[in-house]
Amino acid sequence: MNIVLLGSPASGKGTQAEILSKKFNLFHLSTGDIARKLAEANPRIKEIINSGKLLPPEEITMHVLDFLEHEKPDMTGILFEGFPRFISQYEALDNFLKSKGDNIDLVISLEVPMEVAIKRISSRWMCPGCGEIYNMETDPPKNPGVCDKCGGILVQRDDDKPEAIKTRFEYYIRNTKELIDYVDAKGKLTRINGDRPIGVIAKDLEEVVRKATGNDNN
Ligand code: AMP
Repeated sequence: MNIVLLGSPASGKGTQAEILSKKFNLFHLSTGDIARKLAEANPRIKEIINSGKLLPPEEITMHVLDFLEHEKPDMTGILFEGFPRFISQYEALDNFLKSKGDNIDLVISLEVPMEVAIKRISSRWMCPGCGEIYNMETDPPKNPGVCDKCGGILVQRDDDKPEAIKTRFEYYIRNTKELIDYVDAKGKLTRINGDRPIGVIAKDLEEVVRKATGNDNN
């Protein structure tokens, strides 16, 4: 079973992808993580990410297909997070998986109103030392601005800064909404309301996946 989890910036897709992949023993493939790793050695990619823009679709597709070919040759049991985001990426992935005898089985769109996502993004801070993430409204550190785990000074990810947020949304709406409609027309889309507590959403997602796999017992 291969699952695609789509969602706007700050829809909670990263958190839910982690929960879901653990629950169903899926390989969690996050293109945001791949892109951030590439950015460490590539200033062009770093600038694109920090400004809130998307990488050229075919560039990230190439990295994903290359990764699958070399690191995940069985091509199944994968939870794709943040990829595909464009119709062209969807078709490239679908064709690639089909050429290996596999499929995209399920596409889930985690949906939150724009105001909610913007509020979430602006309250998300992280520790550059250990990578711990804090939400200043719902999960603040004990000492303001200081990491509970390692004492590091908390910062905002560059692409979580207010000027980048609007751009990320514009790109999301322009490209991913088109993909969502495209997948919906194929009858493969499940929409999930992401404006609810993490545990409630996780339960819903679990049910959707169980139904799709015909696995109602675990
Ligand atoms: P995310 O954490 O999923 O919001 O991704 C962070 C950044 O990585 C995005 O703002 C893009 O610059 C880049 N990125 C991730 N996935 C894709 C994709 N499917 N196509 C193009 N760029 C991507």
